Amino acid sequence: TYVVTEDCIKCKYTDCVEVCPVDCFYEGENMLVINPSECIDCGVCEPECPAEAILPDTEDGLEKWLELNTQYSAQWPNI
Ligand code: SF4
Repeated sequence: TYVVTEDCIKCKYTDCVEVCPVDCFYEGENMLVINPSECIDCGVCEPECPAEAILPDTEDGLEKWLELNTQYSAQWPNI
């Protein structure tokens, strides 16, 4: 899965949401998240993010963000 990380906070762009083929972005007050159980790992959102906030969870050190994407996507509305 891909995960949204810290640099998304207060970002106003939704370019990632427009390109996601499975609509798995969710929106809270300060940032967007990806629902890891819906993401099909296509990777098209990563280069669209102007803040470079979207990363594959295979990168080191993203455990905390994977957990937050999982938790928040269960609570926040789909965008
Ligand atoms: Fe959506 Fe693909 Fe990005 Fe996953 S990797 S959030 S399916 S655009």
